[in-house]
Amino acid sequence: MQQANTFKNYIWLMGRRIRAHRCQALSKRSKLQCKNAALREKHVCRFHGGKSKGPLTIDGKKRCADVKTIHGRETREKRKIRSKKFIEMKLLASLLK
Ligand SMILES: [Zn+2]
Repeated sequence: MQQANTFKNYIWLMGRRIRAHRCQALSKRSKLQCKNAALREKHVCRFHGGKSKGPLTIDGKKRCADVKTIHGRETREKRKIRSKKFIEMKLLASLLK
């Protein structure tokens, strides 16, 4: 019988003497929330990547960015250029009136 998945943000430890953040990861097999306490200033426990520092080398960071990039057609730079052009266009349109 599968338990209803009620997600909790905190977990009580040491007989309700310590309240800690609860790990926010889900179990692959049972699809239930992890029952461990999260690491300090993290959302997950050590088993679910809480000890990870993320990519450290330049090569690793580039690999991570490549995986996260979906298409690259919409970037912050392009949005900035587009908003500048839009302001220009509005100014020109106001001059025509
Ligand atoms: Zn966990």
